Amino acid sequence: MAKKLLAVLLAGMMTFSLAACGGNNAASDAAAPAQEAAPAPAAEEAAPAAEEAAPAEEAAPAEEAAPAEEAAPAAAGQKVGVSMPTKDLQRWNQDGANMEKELKEAGYEVDLQYASNDVQTQLSQVENMISSGCSVLVIAAIEGSSLGEALDMAKEANIPVIAYDRLIMDSDAVSYYATFDNYKVGVVQGTYVKESLDLDNAAGPFNIEFTAGDPGDNNAGFFFNGAYDVLKPYIDEGKLVVKSGQTKFEDVATPTWGTDVAQARAENILSSFYADGTDLDVWLCSNDSTAMGVENALAANYTGKYPIITGQDCDIENTKNMIAGKQSMSVFKDTRTLASQVVKMVGQILTGATVDVNDTETYNNNVITVPSFLCEPVFADANNYKEILIDSGYYTEDQLK
Ligand code: BGC
Repeated sequence: MAKKLLAVLLAGMMTFSLAACGGNNAASDAAAPAQEAAPAPAAEEAAPAAEEAAPAEEAAPAEEAAPAEEAAPAAAGQKVGVSMPTKDLQRWNQDGANMEKELKEAGYEVDLQYASNDVQTQLSQVENMISSGCSVLVIAAIEGSSLGEALDMAKEANIPVIAYDRLIMDSDAVSYYATFDNYKVGVVQGTYVKESLDLDNAAGPFNIEFTAGDPGDNNAGFFFNGAYDVLKPYIDEGKLVVKSGQTKFEDVATPTWGTDVAQARAENILSSFYADGTDLDVWLCSNDSTAMGVENALAANYTGKYPIITGQDCDIENTKNMIAGKQSMSVFKDTRTLASQVVKMVGQILTGATVDVNDTETYNNNVITVPSFLCEPVFADANNYKEILIDSGYYTEDQLK
């Protein structure tokens, strides 16, 4: 029953998400003619048209949406630098590929770089993007506060910077931030646990452990807090018990979001607190790479009742685990949606149009509050993955075999 309720709730969120982050290219396509009228004042005049076209897909009929060849001269000479953290995690490959595809379709030149999770590499890649003449930078930072020098350079060269998915910290050179609602990701995970265990009615107690993300990633605290805020009342009343006693973000964080790091900590906890036959009911994991670490540790070190495990990203291996009953849920953040939104923002910036934002309060980076666009995360589990991941064309059925 509780599950049904949750499903309805989350289905509602999903519908909203699709509406909220329409993710169509109407704006960037429609923005192209504005760019064609190259001089700045003309572009500004044309800008409202781009904005008007944005919300209603019908408002941008095919003829108006500039075909690729027409778009090309408009965007020609405009190069967009896209800096992604790593190729190791599936999601960033998808983010990079989607961004490249959509930007190229809109007629931009693209400089896409992955930084092997190495801060220095990302720094020099971004500096190269600046010196090679990129007009806009889109950056998913490895470590939110380590890009200072590159950002100073960008600011000096008047190059707008969009923080992609992860907020760039400690700098006033960040123009916009596009992400998913990170706190809500955690709320969806926490609510799933609450509903699955029927915490308001069941007697409990239930045993739970937490695994959060990289302390260098501003998102990680949002994910953890979102989940913890839902579950804290039950921990306070003793219905949820954390045997390890580790409930603070600092204690449960996973540097680099590494699967191996999460696995090592999970193995430790399992052998210290659950080796005597004590059942573990839930392992709340902030994302899929850490969930995979916990799943590996359970497979190697635990024979009790299999716990509820949360995740985020719907990575292929984790989705397979969901189907196999080894992970309970994941939060799907459609990287196509985010890419479309960012490409739209790039177009709006370059044409001088008003840039779409829907949150001007939440994301303070210690220097400024960065105007943000938050897309809606979507609940996924073994029951709805086909609809969300396969029917939508995100994965093929074969990829999940
Ligand atoms: C992203 C997550 C991802 C994590 C690890 C976070 O910033 O929002 O989707 O799982 O980084 O790469």
